[in-house]
Amino acid sequence: MTHQRQDIIDLSSGQVVEPLPPAIRARLMQALDAQSQTTAYAPAPGDPDLRSAVAGHYRSRSAREADPEEITVTAGVRHGLFVALATVAAGGEVLMPRPHWSHYPAVIERAGAKAVAVPGDPARGLLVGAEDLEAARTAETRAVLVNSPVNPTGSCHDARGLREIRDWAHERGITVITDDVYYAYADDVDTALRTHEEEIVVGGASKVFALAGLRVGWIWASPGLCGALRAGVEYTTGPVNTLAQIAAATALGDPAPVAQRAETLARQRQTAVRALTGIPGLTPLEPHGGIYLCLDAAEALAHRPMGADDDVALCRVLAEHAGVRLRAGSTFGLPGHLRLCVAVPEQTLHEAARRLAGFLAAGR
Ligand code: PMP
Repeated sequence: MTHQRQDIIDLSSGQVVEPLPPAIRARLMQALDAQSQTTAYAPAPGDPDLRSAVAGHYRSRSAREADPEEITVTAGVRHGLFVALATVAAGGEVLMPRPHWSHYPAVIERAGAKAVAVPGDPARGLLVGAEDLEAARTAETRAVLVNSPVNPTGSCHDARGLREIRDWAHERGITVITDDVYYAYADDVDTALRTHEEEIVVGGASKVFALAGLRVGWIWASPGLCGALRAGVEYTTGPVNTLAQIAAATALGDPAPVAQRAETLARQRQTAVRALTGIPGLTPLEPHGGIYLCLDAAEALAHRPMGADDDVALCRVLAEHAGVRLRAGSTFGLPGHLRLCVAVPEQTLHEAARRLAGFLAAGR
């Protein structure tokens, strides 16, 4: 059976989409009446209220005294990563644990650095450890990009694993760049940020605060780096959209919705694993955080459903014939796998599972 386009369940992109909370809407309406808060440039390093809110957030989460002077606002997390990478790693190599977010290689390269993929250990949920990084290190290594929970697998470093990586990098003069975008959606929330002064933390409002369309991110870094980081923002995007920063500052002021989302996502991850276990040829990789689930599709591929012999072809076939759109694992350095976003209503996950099971069982 071929599904009409509008009938496809699209689990391919990763978003947490919610209506704008009333408190943010009210704050924006108030700002619309104050010209200085709408049509004028925001201050170059970022809106002072947002920088205070971000510093307050990191103070409450880590042992280090975060100061608003250490915060630079960026146009989303990827922009923050780009600016951080261009500042500390241009001309050198960046260790990029694999699997990884699809965009990392291109962001690293556009920042003028070379991406060096470091394969994760299958025995540890495909996470890398200090010994894996050491094996990939060269004289040109400038930085290591750390993301936990990992997009796409949902694997999370525990405190010990993160400490080892941080100490390893510190001892070798390598900068840890922490991509903090999913921080709250984890069994193990990272509370040891910037244990060493030189670490750069990049966070944002997109996922945990469910404001992806507003394009607000930030960098927390040592004051010595802030001049260069702020120049990186000034000469790429310039000051970030004023109203978007006001919305993000308001969102950061209320931790309750974050806890609520984290709880909902934990449930959605569990539901997805349960619903997708037992589907012929697909085996879920247990996630411990994040908004995604990966499926090992090796067995399904062995049957070449409708001729599909790799994960990209299988995605196409599943969209066309099962009416479920997923992302190919090879996009994330994880060939032979499929990724789906679990941040959708639970009945959607059940319906997707039903369709996949029906299609894959029929092809045997
Ligand atoms: N980092 C990771 C690991 C991501 O998965 C994403 C988005 N999918 C981003 C960064 C990008 O965040 P933003 O939309 O704020 O640029």
